[in-house]
Amino acid sequence: MINLEPKSQTSFYQSVQNYFDKAARHTGLHPGLLEQIKVCNAVYQVHFPVKVGNEYRVIEAYRVQHSHHRTPTKGGIRFSNHVNQEEVMALATLMTYKCAIVDVPFGGAKGGVKINPWEFTPSQIEKITRRYTSELIRRNMIGPSVDVPAPDYGTGSREMAWIYDTYRTFNGDDIDAAGCVTGKPVNQHGIRGRTEATGRGVFYGIREACNQKEDMKRLGLEPGIEGKTMVVQGLGNVGSYTATISQDEGGVKIVGVGEVEGAIYKKDGIDIHDLLKFRKETGSIIGYPGAKVLDKSNRKAVLEMECDILVPAALENQITTENAHKIKAKIIAEAANGPITSMAEEVLLEAGKLIIPDVYLNAGGVTVSYFEWLKNLSHMRFGRMDKRFNQQTYQNLIELVERLTGHTIGERERLMIGRGAEEIDLVRSGLEETMISSYNQIREVMKRKRKVDDLRTAAFVSAINKISSDYLSLGIFP
Ligand code: NAD
Repeated sequence: MINLEPKSQTSFYQSVQNYFDKAARHTGLHPGLLEQIKVCNAVYQVHFPVKVGNEYRVIEAYRVQHSHHRTPTKGGIRFSNHVNQEEVMALATLMTYKCAIVDVPFGGAKGGVKINPWEFTPSQIEKITRRYTSELIRRNMIGPSVDVPAPDYGTGSREMAWIYDTYRTFNGDDIDAAGCVTGKPVNQHGIRGRTEATGRGVFYGIREACNQKEDMKRLGLEPGIEGKTMVVQGLGNVGSYTATISQDEGGVKIVGVGEVEGAIYKKDGIDIHDLLKFRKETGSIIGYPGAKVLDKSNRKAVLEMECDILVPAALENQITTENAHKIKAKIIAEAANGPITSMAEEVLLEAGKLIIPDVYLNAGGVTVSYFEWLKNLSHMRFGRMDKRFNQQTYQNLIELVERLTGHTIGERERLMIGRGAEEIDLVRSGLEETMISSYNQIREVMKRKRKVDDLRTAAFVSAINKISSDYLSLGIFP
């Protein structure tokens, strides 16, 4: 785990457990039931050898299934040098609550392979991915009804395609094999809109938060996302989509960006498409025309920049008690998992910041993964059955309106109104609905429980109540 903090700082796993305990006090549930919800149900650690050049490397890897209250379990696979058992347990635990918050019927899981993916060639990464998948197959820890991985830090659709192919090779007669993993390329049974899903969900979540008039008034901000300034840490999958969609669809001004090579600031705004192109060409964000470079000796300086919305989208434990008091943003939108430690959160809440928690905010990935899994099990693309039918119905309505009013609707409007929904439209609409309704469910908990006054605790209360009702309906607990 990237944890450059002194040992006295709270670990990621401990932070997650602290959040759980804080919320559990507001549920009135039996302590035994709370303990069952809290613990990791299965932890698998494995070491396997892989030949790299003329050497053999022994690779350490994990899969943790946090909760079997619903199956399959679901959660991404992380490739990082900093992977360790506690980190994977923390991420698996968050997945359980995340799925419950957005009403996705899975238990939580997570995988981790302790490698620096940028040190290996693509064919070596393929070898490692396939071998890791075989280990999961051997332990029955992967499958469409068992446990369904997805991308996370250091992995993407390429790795998911290798996982699917390996699973299919071992399970040739499983007609639902494509549902063994999500985040696959579209031409390998993936779904349109999965790659952007987490970032798009982050945008919908931030936009919903900004639409709450009372909350914005308390922060001294105007309601609405348009015109707000944003700083993003990490321009990977989640960070880059959050930034581009916030800029293009929300009218947000991106004033600062931090990456591994350093951080830049530009008061009048950075065009994020331009910056991504610049980084692709030069390999760095440093040198981007017109932007100031921040102190390179302090990697976290980006978090302390002046802005309305700070989006940590890289890794955990970025805001600790060391720097929490230096954060100037009024809204902190946790696109990454666990960027704020539980102790730092107390400092930020005390200072009146609005924290939109990871456990809700980055759930767009698992939501669209759920759509992909449903598509794989139904063996049919969304929109295939009803697109033409809807198109015809809309055309009939347009013609009726024209006849009744005597007005002719222009060709452009006709095309816009009369269009049947494609898969991407349905995915985005399902994601938007999920993010808006989950935000309002969380706010509802805050309204009902007077002592719950932050979004994270409310989100955890909501998740614990939903999971407990599954256990209670089994009659195991009083
Ligand atoms: P990614 O590998 O695509 O991108 C991470 C980016 O962060 C990289 O560009 C990396 O260079 C940068 N980075 C690393 N350390 C940094 C530092 N100290 N300062 C600035 N930048 C740094 O990973 P991702 O998939 O975008 O995941 C990012 C976070 O979002 C993780 O916490 C992950 O668990 C979480 N998340 C991802 C998804 C998903 O669908 N990919 C879903 C939910 C949550």
